[in-house]
Amino acid sequence: MQTIPLNQPGQLRDRVKGQLGVNAPPSFHVMTKPRGAICNLDCDYCYFLSKEMLYKGSRFRMALNLLEDYTRQYIEAQRVSQVTFTWQGGEPTLMGLDFFKKALELQQKYRRPGMVVQNSIQTNGTLLDEEWATFFKENAFLVGLSLDGPRKMHDAYRHDKGGHGTFNKVMKAVKLLKTRGVEFNILTTLNAANVEHPIEVYRFLRDEVGTEFIQFIPIVERQNKTGFQEGTEVTERSITGEQYGRFLIAVFDEWVRRDVGKVFVQLFDTALNSWLGLPSGLCVFDETCGTGLAMEHNGDIYSCDHFVEPKHKLGNLRKLPMLQMVGSEQQRQFGLAKRDTLPRYCRECPVRFACNGGCPKDRVLTTPGGEPGLNYLCAGYKAFFTHVDRPMKLMAREIRLRRSPANVMAILEQEDAVLRNTF
Ligand code: SF4
Ligand code: SF4
Repeated sequence: MQTIPLNQPGQLRDRVKGQLGVNAPPSFHVMTKPRGAICNLDCDYCYFLSKEMLYKGSRFRMALNLLEDYTRQYIEAQRVSQVTFTWQGGEPTLMGLDFFKKALELQQKYRRPGMVVQNSIQTNGTLLDEEWATFFKENAFLVGLSLDGPRKMHDAYRHDKGGHGTFNKVMKAVKLLKTRGVEFNILTTLNAANVEHPIEVYRFLRDEVGTEFIQFIPIVERQNKTGFQEGTEVTERSITGEQYGRFLIAVFDEWVRRDVGKVFVQLFDTALNSWLGLPSGLCVFDETCGTGLAMEHNGDIYSCDHFVEPKHKLGNLRKLPMLQMVGSEQQRQFGLAKRDTLPRYCRECPVRFACNGGCPKDRVLTTPGGEPGLNYLCAGYKAFFTHVDRPMKLMAREIRLRRSPANVMAILEQEDAVLRNTF
């Protein structure tokens, strides 16, 4: 019989209401870190390296019996016919290929008939070789590769433990993935070294890397010794809201005039969803969150990848059923707090429908009226969402009329021509 400790907030209520996750959402997502915070690189802005301190003395390797337990529970918990396993770190490829072969074997063992199982992996790319690329291709992995722009910008913060830049190795990985036909997207952090060069970064990713999928992740890094989301100071590597807004607007203006339908920038896609009245598809811009959890190498489950800290631990998979943790009152409150702690300034904001106050991890400012909880990137969000209003409306209209949103390019071109002729 499994013993269920009652030492965490919300558990008593959960126990009374039933342990089988009656409150759990029909589907949720777990980002798994089979090697914990261990990485072969030492990127300056990495928010996860400091998590090593939480597990002093650990081997930082997910055991195979835990992998099996996790796979079974994760699949069983999904009340939809699709499940995505996401591998992250640290650097997940440090687990070696055999671990992932085993993971696939277990997925096949536990998947329900007709269930689609997908895998995605976020990697720094430096350890990839022919064998990895072939494995990814054969098993339809979606690979997320971290690349911060041209060499000088990428190497500014992304270096190995000896301080050497990693640009060459990542570009080698790009070539490998392209040659093997692996589906990959580029994750570019926006930091002090690249944020003032939006067009150079975008054109590099589009033309030289040749990627069709880009995610821009703003670096907002708290200045403290714990590595937790505490304090209101940010590091000098972080970007400001104004810089974020300028970057996004410059890239958007280039994209909306020539690349719609050819290049997919995650933030532009999510914004379009908001203009269509749909959920954005990205937790940062949804009204509430809480369905994207993180699991450490030893089975500890946390509310979110950005809150891997004791306060936000939901329990351990070896001791508590996953569904119970996902459906716990603690997790429900975590997700609702995103909406319920929104300051009035946000609640009355004209672009709230697209922004929703951004991620709680970045809410370190006070509003002009003195209320806490305003997002550090607010100025950028406001500028960007205001700027894209008209093209977004045009694209949304085309979609509603069952036409291609790419028509926006011709419409804007025509308008630009009229303006050119007028002046
Ligand atoms: S805390 Fe932020 S990153 Fe985590 S789920 Fe909520 S919005 Fe997403
Ligand atoms: S743009 Fe600023 S004020 Fe408006 S919802 Fe977003 S964070 Fe709040």
